[in-house]
Amino acid sequence: MYKLIDGKEVSNHVKTKVREEVDALKEKGIEPALAVIIVGNDPASRVYVNNKKKACEFTGMRSVEYAMPEETTEEELLSVIDKLNADDSINGILCQLPVPKHISEKAVIERISAKKDVDVFSAENVGKMWQGDYDMASCTPMGVIELLDYYGIDVCGKNCVIIGRSNIVGKPMASLLLERSATVTICHSRTKNLSEITSKADLIVAAVGRAKFVTADMVKEGAIVVDVGINRNDDGKLCGDVDFENVKDKCEFITPVPGGCGPMTIAVLMKNTLLACKKQNGII
Ligand code: NAP
Repeated sequence: MYKLIDGKEVSNHVKTKVREEVDALKEKGIEPALAVIIVGNDPASRVYVNNKKKACEFTGMRSVEYAMPEETTEEELLSVIDKLNADDSINGILCQLPVPKHISEKAVIERISAKKDVDVFSAENVGKMWQGDYDMASCTPMGVIELLDYYGIDVCGKNCVIIGRSNIVGKPMASLLLERSATVTICHSRTKNLSEITSKADLIVAAVGRAKFVTADMVKEGAIVVDVGINRNDDGKLCGDVDFENVKDKCEFITPVPGGCGPMTIAVLMKNTLLACKKQNGII
């Protein structure tokens, strides 16, 4: 019988711990604050930004939103980032991606001060993660680690297969698993014999972006399956990358979608903003 990994429960646990620390900081006159920039009218981005604001409310942090029109120039966006970098009352800055096509995503990411880069997207912070010398780790992969830790799943020595090699999920996921002494394989669209590789995995992390991509024949009995994917099925319902109904009975642990990795990304964002605030105030 498989065990369901409950991302809502774990994210509430993480956010509650953050709230306790935020309350203690406020008693010392320090109020952690997150600035969220959104450019344009992408409906999915609006949902994500609203969820981040709600998480700030839950944890007691201040959130400041900069909603900028679609036609904002790169220069205008970078000057808002400069202003926030220089503002000591702001501890974390994130720009909701994607930005409109005429703006360079890389320029935006690199302009945010590394110490306020709570998404952990900058080259400096990603490099620190790979060196194991970091306070803040990439939100979605660290959310996966929080889930594993909560359920007492030790990846040391385990054969872990990540499907997907993006800068946001696949690569930093590999870094965090490797740091915990897993044996890590990263697969992608050019990988040959994918199911042969995944069917030997003790842990599969799926980050592909295709509904029902991971099928039962790709999973070994007793595996742990973590589904990072967020897709819509033919009925328009939210689903992951894993064919959950057919895969679940082969698993020891499996994450659902929704309610698995999704809530964890924002919980770690809150944790990172708190860490950034503590660091900027000389507390750690
Ligand atoms: P991405 O940048 O599009 O990367 C997808 C990866 O999947 C790529 O590395 C791609 O390989 C690989 N891939 C595509 N087709 C494949 C195939 N047939 N066989 C093996 N690998 C294949 O996506 P992403 O940003 O990493 O996101 C992945 C999924 O996670 C999406 O559904 C996204 O919505 C979701 N997501 C969720 C959260 C969350 O909070 N839970 C956060 C971020 C993303 P190539 O590199 O060779 O093209």
